[in-house]
Amino acid sequence: MENIKDKVVIITGASSGIGAETARKLSALGAKVVLAARREDQLKSLVSELGENAMYVVTDVTKSADLNHLVQQAINKFGHIDALFNNAGIMPLSFFDEGKIDEWDRMIDINIKGVLYGINAVLPHMLERGQGHILSTSSIAGIKTTPGIGVYSATKFAVRAIMETLREEVAKTIKVTTIYPGATRSELGHDITSPKIKAAFFNSSAPPSPKMDESAIANAVIYAISQSGNTNVNEIVLRPLGQT
Ligand code: NDP
Repeated sequence: MENIKDKVVIITGASSGIGAETARKLSALGAKVVLAARREDQLKSLVSELGENAMYVVTDVTKSADLNHLVQQAINKFGHIDALFNNAGIMPLSFFDEGKIDEWDRMIDINIKGVLYGINAVLPHMLERGQGHILSTSSIAGIKTTPGIGVYSATKFAVRAIMETLREEVAKTIKVTTIYPGATRSELGHDITSPKIKAAFFNSSAPPSPKMDESAIANAVIYAISQSGNTNVNEIVLRPLGQT
Protein backbone atom coordinates (compact mmCIF):
# COMPACT_ATOMS: atom_id res chain seq x y z
CA MET A 1 0.00 0.00 0.00
CA GLU A 2 1.47 3.31 -1.10
CA ASN A 3 1.67 6.37 1.06
CA ILE A 4 1.33 4.71 4.49
CA LYS A 5 4.95 3.88 5.31
CA ASP A 6 6.40 6.16 8.00
CA LYS A 7 3.15 8.09 8.46
CA VAL A 8 2.59 8.94 12.13
CA VAL A 9 -0.98 8.07 13.11
CA ILE A 10 -2.61 8.56 16.53
CA ILE A 11 -5.52 6.20 17.21
CA THR A 12 -7.90 6.66 20.15
CA GLY A 13 -9.85 3.65 21.33
CA ALA A 14 -6.86 1.52 20.35
CA SER A 15 -7.11 -0.99 23.22
CA SER A 16 -9.71 -3.17 21.46
CA GLY A 17 -11.98 -3.61 18.46
CA ILE A 18 -11.73 -1.31 15.46
CA GLY A 19 -8.94 0.83 16.91
CA ALA A 20 -6.67 -2.10 17.77
CA GLU A 21 -7.22 -3.72 14.35
CA THR A 22 -6.52 -0.41 12.58
CA ALA A 23 -3.27 -0.09 14.54
CA ARG A 24 -2.22 -3.62 13.55
CA LYS A 25 -2.92 -3.06 9.87
CA LEU A 26 -1.30 0.38 9.73
CA SER A 27 1.74 -0.91 11.55
CA ALA A 28 2.06 -3.87 9.16
CA LEU A 29 2.14 -1.32 6.32
CA GLY A 30 5.02 0.58 7.96
CA ALA A 31 3.16 3.38 9.74
CA LYS A 32 4.23 4.68 13.14
CA VAL A 33 1.27 4.28 15.45
CA VAL A 34 0.44 6.03 18.71
CA LEU A 35 -2.14 4.08 20.69
CA ALA A 36 -4.48 5.80 23.15
CA ALA A 37 -7.12 4.41 25.53
CA ARG A 38 -7.58 3.90 29.28
CA ARG A 39 -6.69 0.20 29.71
CA GLU A 40 -2.91 0.16 29.95
CA ASP A 41 -2.51 -3.64 29.92
CA GLN A 42 -4.13 -3.92 26.49
CA LEU A 43 -2.13 -0.99 25.10
CA LYS A 44 1.14 -2.33 26.46
CA SER A 45 0.60 -5.77 25.00
CA LEU A 46 -0.35 -4.33 21.58
CA VAL A 47 2.79 -2.17 21.54
CA SER A 48 4.96 -5.18 22.35
CA GLU A 49 3.26 -7.05 19.49
CA LEU A 50 3.84 -4.18 17.02
CA GLY A 51 7.42 -3.25 17.95
CA GLU A 52 9.47 -0.08 18.08
CA ASN A 53 7.36 1.93 15.64
CA ALA A 54 4.45 1.81 18.09
CA MET A 55 3.95 3.63 21.37
CA TYR A 56 1.06 4.10 23.74
CA VAL A 57 -0.15 6.91 25.94
CA VAL A 58 -2.81 6.14 28.56
CA THR A 59 -5.54 8.61 27.67
CA ASP A 60 -9.05 9.39 28.87
CA VAL A 61 -10.68 11.26 25.99
CA THR A 62 -13.09 13.02 28.37
CA LYS A 63 -10.12 15.07 29.62
CA SER A 64 -8.82 17.68 27.19
CA ALA A 65 -5.48 17.76 29.04
CA ASP A 66 -5.04 14.05 28.26
CA LEU A 67 -5.46 14.70 24.55
CA ASN A 68 -2.97 17.57 24.67
CA HIS A 69 -0.52 15.28 26.45
CA LEU A 70 -1.10 12.51 23.88
CA VAL A 71 -0.34 14.83 20.96
CA GLN A 72 2.78 16.18 22.67
CA GLN A 73 4.07 12.68 23.46
CA ALA A 74 3.57 11.62 19.85
CA ILE A 75 5.49 14.67 18.58
CA ASN A 76 8.26 14.06 21.14
CA LYS A 77 8.77 10.49 19.90
CA PHE A 78 8.10 10.71 16.17
CA GLY A 79 8.65 14.43 15.40
CA HIS A 80 5.25 15.19 13.91
CA ILE A 81 1.73 13.82 13.40
CA ASP A 82 0.26 12.94 10.01
CA ALA A 83 -3.15 11.69 11.11
CA LEU A 84 -5.41 11.52 14.15
CA PHE A 85 -8.15 8.85 14.21
CA ASN A 86 -10.78 9.84 16.81
CA ASN A 87 -12.27 6.41 17.34
CA ALA A 88 -12.92 5.95 21.08
CA GLY A 89 -16.60 5.43 21.83
CA ILE A 90 -19.12 3.66 24.02
CA MET A 91 -22.68 2.46 23.44
CA PRO A 92 -24.66 1.76 26.63
CA LEU A 93 -28.04 1.79 24.86
CA SER A 94 -31.33 2.37 26.69
CA PHE A 95 -34.83 3.70 26.12
CA PHE A 96 -35.64 7.26 27.21
CA ASP A 97 -38.21 6.13 29.79
CA GLU A 98 -35.45 4.29 31.67
CA GLY A 99 -33.87 7.65 32.52
CA LYS A 100 -30.26 6.45 32.51
CA ILE A 101 -28.85 9.95 32.76
CA ASP A 102 -25.40 8.81 33.91
CA GLU A 103 -25.03 6.69 30.78
CA TRP A 104 -26.26 9.58 28.58
CA ASP A 105 -23.63 11.82 30.18
CA ARG A 106 -20.85 9.27 29.63
CA MET A 107 -21.78 8.85 25.95
CA ILE A 108 -21.85 12.61 25.43
CA ASP A 109 -18.50 13.01 27.20
CA ILE A 110 -16.69 10.21 25.35
CA ASN A 111 -18.36 10.15 21.94
CA ILE A 112 -18.71 13.93 21.41
CA LYS A 113 -16.34 15.76 23.72
CA GLY A 114 -13.63 13.15 23.09
CA VAL A 115 -13.74 14.00 19.36
CA LEU A 116 -13.72 17.75 20.05
CA TYR A 117 -10.78 17.50 22.45
CA GLY A 118 -8.83 15.41 19.92
CA ILE A 119 -9.41 17.99 17.19
CA ASN A 120 -8.48 20.81 19.57
CA ALA A 121 -5.24 19.09 20.56
CA VAL A 122 -3.95 18.31 17.08
CA LEU A 123 -5.25 21.18 14.96
CA PRO A 124 -2.60 23.82 15.82
CA HIS A 125 0.17 21.33 14.94
CA MET A 126 -1.44 20.40 11.62
CA LEU A 127 -2.21 24.02 10.69
CA GLU A 128 1.38 24.97 11.46
CA ARG A 129 2.66 22.14 9.24
CA GLY A 130 0.14 23.06 6.55
CA GLN A 131 -0.98 19.45 6.26
CA GLY A 132 -2.60 16.65 8.20
CA HIS A 133 -5.56 14.29 8.31
CA ILE A 134 -8.29 14.01 10.96
CA LEU A 135 -10.59 10.99 10.91
CA SER A 136 -13.44 10.11 13.27
CA THR A 137 -15.71 7.13 13.74
CA SER A 138 -19.38 7.96 13.54
CA SER A 139 -21.83 5.10 12.87
CA ILE A 140 -24.83 4.10 10.79
CA ALA A 141 -26.52 5.45 13.96
CA GLY A 142 -25.09 8.81 12.87
CA ILE A 143 -27.19 8.63 9.70
CA LYS A 144 -30.43 7.03 10.90
CA THR A 145 -31.97 6.22 14.25
CA THR A 146 -34.31 3.62 15.77
CA PRO A 147 -35.96 3.21 19.20
CA GLY A 148 -33.49 2.43 21.97
CA ILE A 149 -30.48 4.11 20.40
CA GLY A 150 -31.48 7.77 20.86
CA VAL A 151 -28.59 9.22 22.84
CA TYR A 152 -25.93 7.07 21.16
CA SER A 153 -27.37 8.10 17.82
CA ALA A 154 -27.39 11.77 18.87
CA THR A 155 -23.70 11.55 19.71
CA LYS A 156 -22.92 10.01 16.33
CA PHE A 157 -25.04 12.62 14.46
CA ALA A 158 -22.96 15.16 16.40
CA VAL A 159 -19.74 13.56 15.16
CA ARG A 160 -21.03 14.00 11.62
CA ALA A 161 -21.84 17.68 12.22
CA ILE A 162 -18.48 18.34 13.85
CA MET A 163 -16.50 16.64 11.09
CA GLU A 164 -18.44 18.23 8.25
CA THR A 165 -17.98 21.69 9.76
CA LEU A 166 -14.30 20.99 10.38
CA ARG A 167 -13.91 19.92 6.75
CA GLU A 168 -15.35 23.21 5.54
CA GLU A 169 -13.20 25.24 7.95
CA VAL A 170 -9.88 23.59 7.05
CA ALA A 171 -10.66 22.49 3.50
CA LYS A 172 -7.55 24.09 2.01
CA THR A 173 -4.97 22.21 4.06
CA ILE A 174 -6.24 19.34 6.20
CA LYS A 175 -7.98 16.15 5.08
CA VAL A 176 -11.12 15.21 7.02
CA THR A 177 -12.75 11.78 6.94
CA THR A 178 -15.78 10.41 8.77
CA ILE A 179 -16.24 6.63 8.91
CA TYR A 180 -19.79 5.27 9.33
CA PRO A 181 -19.63 1.58 10.30
CA GLY A 182 -22.61 -0.70 10.63
CA ALA A 183 -22.62 -3.65 13.02
CA THR A 184 -19.03 -4.76 13.58
CA ARG A 185 -17.55 -7.42 15.86
CA SER A 186 -15.95 -5.75 18.91
CA GLU A 187 -16.48 -5.16 22.62
CA LEU A 188 -18.96 -2.34 21.90
CA GLY A 189 -22.14 -2.62 23.96
CA HIS A 190 -20.53 -4.73 26.70
CA ASP A 191 -21.63 -2.02 29.14
CA ILE A 192 -25.34 -2.12 28.28
CA THR A 193 -27.30 -2.23 31.55
CA SER A 194 -30.84 -1.81 30.20
CA PRO A 195 -32.89 -5.01 30.56
CA LYS A 196 -35.26 -3.71 27.87
CA ILE A 197 -32.39 -3.33 25.39
CA LYS A 198 -31.00 -6.73 26.28
CA ALA A 199 -34.43 -8.23 25.68
CA ALA A 200 -35.02 -6.29 22.45
CA PHE A 201 -31.57 -6.70 20.91
CA PHE A 202 -30.11 -9.88 22.34
CA ASN A 203 -32.98 -12.23 23.28
CA SER A 204 -34.81 -12.00 19.98
CA SER A 205 -35.80 -15.37 18.52
CA ALA A 206 -34.58 -14.20 15.08
CA PRO A 207 -30.90 -15.03 14.53
CA PRO A 208 -28.81 -11.82 14.43
CA SER A 209 -27.37 -10.84 11.06
CA PRO A 210 -23.65 -11.53 10.87
CA LYS A 211 -21.53 -8.54 11.84
CA MET A 212 -18.57 -7.22 9.86
CA ASP A 213 -15.06 -8.02 10.95
CA GLU A 214 -13.10 -5.11 12.49
CA SER A 215 -10.67 -5.45 9.59
CA ALA A 216 -13.34 -4.11 7.21
CA ILE A 217 -13.36 -0.81 9.09
CA ALA A 218 -9.57 -0.78 9.43
CA ASN A 219 -9.30 -1.20 5.66
CA ALA A 220 -11.60 1.79 5.16
CA VAL A 221 -9.41 3.93 7.41
CA ILE A 222 -6.32 2.80 5.51
CA TYR A 223 -7.98 3.58 2.17
CA ALA A 224 -8.61 7.15 3.34
CA ILE A 225 -5.11 7.66 4.78
CA SER A 226 -3.36 6.12 1.79
CA GLN A 227 -4.69 8.62 -0.74
CA SER A 228 -1.93 10.77 -2.12
CA GLY A 229 -1.91 14.37 -3.30
CA ASN A 230 -5.05 16.39 -2.85
CA THR A 231 -7.54 13.51 -2.72
CA ASN A 232 -9.63 13.96 0.42
CA VAL A 233 -11.90 11.00 1.21
CA ASN A 234 -14.70 12.69 3.17
CA GLU A 235 -17.02 9.84 4.13
CA ILE A 236 -17.05 6.06 4.06
CA VAL A 237 -20.25 4.14 4.92
CA LEU A 238 -20.05 0.39 5.56
CA ARG A 239 -22.84 -2.04 6.46
CA PRO A 240 -22.82 -5.82 6.67
CA LEU A 241 -25.22 -7.56 4.31
CA GLY A 242 -28.59 -7.79 6.05
CA GLN A 243 -28.33 -4.48 7.91
CA THR A 244 -30.85 -1.91 6.67
P1 NDP B 1 -14.71 -1.38 21.50
O1 NDP B 1 -15.57 -1.34 22.72
O2 NDP B 1 -13.99 -2.63 21.19
O3 NDP B 1 -13.69 -0.18 21.52
C1 NDP B 1 -13.97 1.05 22.13
C2 NDP B 1 -12.65 1.74 22.44
O4 NDP B 1 -12.92 3.02 23.01
C3 NDP B 1 -11.81 0.96 23.44
O5 NDP B 1 -10.48 0.95 23.01
C4 NDP B 1 -11.94 1.79 24.70
O6 NDP B 1 -10.74 1.69 25.46
C5 NDP B 1 -12.07 3.18 24.14
N1 NDP B 1 -12.63 4.12 25.10
C6 NDP B 1 -13.83 4.08 25.72
N2 NDP B 1 -13.95 5.09 26.59
C7 NDP B 1 -12.78 5.79 26.52
C8 NDP B 1 -12.28 6.95 27.18
N3 NDP B 1 -13.00 7.61 28.10
N4 NDP B 1 -11.05 7.38 26.86
C9 NDP B 1 -10.30 6.73 25.95
N5 NDP B 1 -10.72 5.64 25.28
C10 NDP B 1 -11.95 5.18 25.57
O7 NDP B 1 -15.72 -1.02 20.31
P2 NDP B 1 -15.47 -0.64 18.78
O8 NDP B 1 -14.11 -0.96 18.34
O9 NDP B 1 -16.61 -1.20 18.03
O10 NDP B 1 -15.70 0.94 18.83
C11 NDP B 1 -14.86 1.87 18.18
C12 NDP B 1 -15.73 2.98 17.63
O11 NDP B 1 -16.55 2.46 16.59
C13 NDP B 1 -16.67 3.63 18.64
O12 NDP B 1 -16.67 5.04 18.44
C14 NDP B 1 -18.02 3.06 18.25
O13 NDP B 1 -19.08 3.90 18.63
C15 NDP B 1 -17.86 2.94 16.76
N6 NDP B 1 -18.79 2.05 16.07
C16 NDP B 1 -18.76 0.71 16.33
C17 NDP B 1 -19.67 -0.13 15.71
C18 NDP B 1 -19.75 -1.59 16.03
O14 NDP B 1 -20.75 -2.24 15.62
N7 NDP B 1 -18.78 -2.18 16.72
C19 NDP B 1 -20.63 0.38 14.70
C20 NDP B 1 -20.53 1.80 14.51
C21 NDP B 1 -19.64 2.59 15.14
P3 NDP B 1 -10.61 1.74 27.06
O15 NDP B 1 -11.84 1.09 27.63
O16 NDP B 1 -9.35 0.98 27.31
O17 NDP B 1 -10.49 3.19 27.40
